[in-house]
Amino acid sequence: MRSSYAVGVDVGGTRIAVGLVERKGRVVKDAKRLTPKTGPFAVVDTIIDLVEEVSSGAHQSEIAGIGIGVPAQIDFLRQSVEFCTNLPLAGVDVRSLVMSRSKLDVTIDNDGHMAALGESRYGAAKGARDFLMITVGTGVGGGIFLNGEPYRGSRGLGGEIGHVVVQLDGDPCPCGGTGHLEAYVSRPAIAARGRQAAAQFSGSDILAAAGGTVDAVTAESVLLAARSGDEVAREILLECGDILGRALVGFVNIFNPKLIVVGGGIAEAADFMVERAAEVMQAEALAGRRDVSVVHAVLGNDAGILGAAALAFDEYDAHQGVH
Ligand SMILES: [Zn+2]
Repeated sequence: MRSSYAVGVDVGGTRIAVGLVERKGRVVKDAKRLTPKTGPFAVVDTIIDLVEEVSSGAHQSEIAGIGIGVPAQIDFLRQSVEFCTNLPLAGVDVRSLVMSRSKLDVTIDNDGHMAALGESRYGAAKGARDFLMITVGTGVGGGIFLNGEPYRGSRGLGGEIGHVVVQLDGDPCPCGGTGHLEAYVSRPAIAARGRQAAAQFSGSDILAAAGGTVDAVTAESVLLAARSGDEVAREILLECGDILGRALVGFVNIFNPKLIVVGGGIAEAADFMVERAAEVMQAEALAGRRDVSVVHAVLGNDAGILGAAALAFDEYDAHQGVH
């Protein structure tokens, strides 16, 4: 029997969103709550509460399972959380804890892979066999799809495309490395550049967008100022586009994808940054590989829930021998 629903869980640094999802990708019921800051078990309890809330209207037998996306490096084969910079979940057996309470099968993966799977099944990459997904937000994540399958690497830790080196001996990255893409184009990186610029150019709208206080400048202040036409803010984001484009050159040369899907809060708010990245990639990638479409993700905030649900359906079907 094919189960009609799956539960998708999107664990974020700020909030946890859960949805009951139909096979065709409709979110039937969803619920969200702020991510508790009081330790790993509070996070797990919140996941379980939300799962119970959204699945209360469906029979247990109608639910294929639960997929959980975590902003962490996940050993997919062991289903363990290896490194997690924003949440205290490293080493916590999230899968077993949720499984024992919910009595449903649980599969975990990192949030970048989930977003890619969501866009592949229900969004901008529907039908694309070879594509890259890159999410630019608080962190920079993504996923690689090859031959219609997510590429996870030998332990499931692959696809960390936010952690390629774009600058030798460059800025420190939250992962502990230096000069990685995430250290230049993520929300905190843009905020830091915005504070520098606000201190240096007091006439810039960045300072006004932050209420006149340099320390209050966030990435949103830069995005807001750029949208109002402020040149300094636009320059910061175009430079991010240049750097992102350089990283894409490497990915395109290696993987020769058909499509690159760009999502995440920063990318959504700065079209021209994504356009610049696409221009740089198309000008500099090796000949023969440049006809790559660079498109925006279409699932927005639901990408994580939908991708996680798609993973739960896939795991269920693999178990049932459904193809
Ligand atoms: Zn890094």
